[in-house]
Amino acid sequence: MNPLDRFKSVWNDPNDYARKRKQQTGRKILGYFCSYAPEELIHAAGLWPFRLLGTKGEIRMADTHLQSYCCSLVRGGLEAALNGSLDFLDGAVFPHTCDSIQRLSDIWRLNAGFAHHFDAVLPVRLDTPSARQYMIDVLNEFRQELADAFGTEISDDAVWQAIGDYNRIREKLSTLYELRSRAPGLFDPSTVHRIMTAAMVMERREFSEQITAFLEGVEPDAAGRSDTGRKRVVLSGGICTHPDIYELLARAGADVVWDDLCTGARYFEGRIAEDGTDPLAALADRYMERTVCPAKHQDITVRGRALVDMVRHQQAGGVIFLLLKFCDPHAFDYPYLKKFLDEAGIPSLLLEIEEQPPPEGQLMTRFETFVDMLA
Ligand code: SF4
Ligand code: SF4
Repeated sequence: MNPLDRFKSVWNDPNDYARKRKQQTGRKILGYFCSYAPEELIHAAGLWPFRLLGTKGEIRMADTHLQSYCCSLVRGGLEAALNGSLDFLDGAVFPHTCDSIQRLSDIWRLNAGFAHHFDAVLPVRLDTPSARQYMIDVLNEFRQELADAFGTEISDDAVWQAIGDYNRIREKLSTLYELRSRAPGLFDPSTVHRIMTAAMVMERREFSEQITAFLEGVEPDAAGRSDTGRKRVVLSGGICTHPDIYELLARAGADVVWDDLCTGARYFEGRIAEDGTDPLAALADRYMERTVCPAKHQDITVRGRALVDMVRHQQAGGVIFLLLKFCDPHAFDYPYLKKFLDEAGIPSLLLEIEEQPPPEGQLMTRFETFVDMLA
């Protein structure tokens, strides 16, 4: 199977991939929901971090534990845990992020029945003098809990090795984004989205080999395929699990050229210094320095400034906000982000999504109207 087909098949059924690959590798798997999960430590422990992205099926069992006004990521994740779809997991880690994830952690611990459960209570405010040391202490504690739970040692050398592995993966994902931005016609509209999903769920050694082979096969100057003549847009928001959005947008006349999604650029942005003396301080510094998500606090305008800069740097004509229904952190940030864009003369569109995107006809009309008004 070529790398792209492999990525597509993983995207299509990540759970089936995990089940089979686990049998081949014997690697234990730890689920996680958020880009603040310290994946490098999980990897350094010899475990496999697996991003949980809700469910494609109906949500029924989770509704006995959660209010219907929780986001579909949280409800879908619990549903998958309760209905046995995640039977390959050995446990999960819950970083301290939004209220919904914190409540989910308690419900998961009591009901999901996995062998291992971890909370990593990372600081919410990242702008105080003590935040960095606090972050390092929490990471240290998580390292020890992981080591105790799985009867292993996680040495500094192992963490440095994991940091190197992740930096290489992040560099490749960054190259993939740069290529798409330079020449959107190089890939089918939803290809990058599918590869990003694969990056977060595949056993990382295999993903690293496959993405390397994939990028080696890309010809950035392939005539006639690079310039689509379509307009350029940036996506902003939480998670996106809908490849149709990219395809419909292309049909409406626009290419997605960058994003600040939790399942997009936020996953790979920020390199970790490899020349320090304390690997946990290096990990903490990435969390402290990358642009915050709305569940963390740095200063009140940093995301707005970063989004405007991103649009300008990417020479995009506008921004589409993908807001997962009932996601309070992103909903609270939206008005001020929109104001920033308005003041900078950048048009934007707000799209509320659930497990399923809005009907195709409705989406096309909204996309076409929006794309028409872009420069
Ligand atoms: S918004 Fe923040 S807390 Fe929520 S999933 Fe994204 S990175 Fe995690
Ligand atoms: S940040 Fe939003 S989308 Fe992510 S888990 Fe929390 S409420 Fe759900």
